[in-house]
Amino acid sequence: MQGLLKDWRRTNYASQCNSEIAGSEVTVMGWVHEIRDFGGIMFVIIRDVTGRVQITAPSKKVDENIMEELRELRKESVVAIKGMAQEAPKAPNGVEILPKEIKLLSLANQPLPMDPTEKVKAGIDTRLDSRFLDIRKENVSAIFKIKGQMFHSIRDFFYDNGFYEINTPKLVASATEGGTELFPILYFDKEAFLGQSPQLYKQMMMGSGMDKVFEIGQIFRAEEHDTLRHLNEAVSIDAEASFVDDVDMMNVLNKMLVKVIGDINEKCSDELDILGHELELPDEKFPHVTYDEAVDIINANGVELPWGEDLSREAEKVLGEEMGGFYFLTEWPSAIKPFYVMPKDGDEKYSHAFDLMYNNLELSSGSTRVHQHDLLVKQIEERGLNPDGFGTYLKAFEYGMPPHAGWGVGAERLTMVMTGSENIRECALFPRDRQRLTP
Ligand code: ATP
Ligand code: MG
Repeated sequence: MQGLLKDWRRTNYASQCNSEIAGSEVTVMGWVHEIRDFGGIMFVIIRDVTGRVQITAPSKKVDENIMEELRELRKESVVAIKGMAQEAPKAPNGVEILPKEIKLLSLANQPLPMDPTEKVKAGIDTRLDSRFLDIRKENVSAIFKIKGQMFHSIRDFFYDNGFYEINTPKLVASATEGGTELFPILYFDKEAFLGQSPQLYKQMMMGSGMDKVFEIGQIFRAEEHDTLRHLNEAVSIDAEASFVDDVDMMNVLNKMLVKVIGDINEKCSDELDILGHELELPDEKFPHVTYDEAVDIINANGVELPWGEDLSREAEKVLGEEMGGFYFLTEWPSAIKPFYVMPKDGDEKYSHAFDLMYNNLELSSGSTRVHQHDLLVKQIEERGLNPDGFGTYLKAFEYGMPPHAGWGVGAERLTMVMTGSENIRECALFPRDRQRLTP
């Protein structure tokens, strides 16, 4: 059978092929990025997850059958090449490989559905249709390398700060909060839904005594938007902690993001360079602006926002202009926040809810939660919802529920900030939007 690895193993990644290994035999494995045939000499660039390495084959020094095998290679095929490394100042990393043996592991059909070397630029739809090829581009894989580091840092942060990682169900019997559209599914013979948020579960976990929990998991929203910042399936980074309030949890989020940005700057500098993105380390403490102050700023900038309304896109834009960078938007009107948000004591028109913004992009919503059973029932009713639909959730508030607070951050929105991406689709491997359910 052809194309088997057998006892061949990679000895060096492309990035490990530098002048230090000159004079030794190496085996590299990867994709054929480029083939240049000048008759008497051939250059083949091999690409792997770390970068590129040049194979140089002068007909005077390389067997004719190897030259023949090189000539038959096609772009984006997967190969393994054994050869001798030698110094070559003009080659990437100052080294080239003189091939001795070639193993074709997988031949790529031609023409390719898109060109991963970007000599021909493809639109976002063509790219997403062939996402595996698209991700072969270093400026695309860089986004997912940074996103991975972001999750790594976030997990480190939570574990270092006493949060337990949890997983809650995504198949749910009823709506979390009302409002948002849900995807209905058939659960055997019953109607069920895909979860829009782990909100009710992480709150029930506060009644479990686990004290501080976090979850990184999928959320599903059947909203028919067509914007650069909404997906129908996203990843949410959720945190909830007991015996704390909204201000404490804003501080947690603030600290977490300062750490994440520091880590990405330190560990993903190559990826940031590839993206041409400068990730500025924000001030230790993000500014806070109250909803009332925001309304004044927005109105003063010529965008009308009546008190008590959620921010329109235009309002977010002018506020983002004025504030810049990360900032917390606090003290929201209770009426436009969900039932589980704690109203201000003695001034119930306002609440202990906040959003974290980056320029005009909402990254997170959070709040102190209502932990008193009767107040929770009252707030559910006030929003026109039926408390009977919340039976198993409300039960957790009847047998000892500590005061608690929490937030949820959209992972793809945060990745947009970390990578400087304008379109949220760039930050999901296989994005789901109104138009797209494949691949
Ligand atoms: P927006 O007003 O921007 O649509 P939201 O207020 O409806 O967002 P929340 O329900 O507060 O969103 O969700 C918490 C966080 O989850 C948001 O701040 C955002 O980062 C992320 N998020 C929410 N909906 C989406 C979505 N459709 N696509 C991607 N991320 C989302
Ligand atoms: Mg929100």
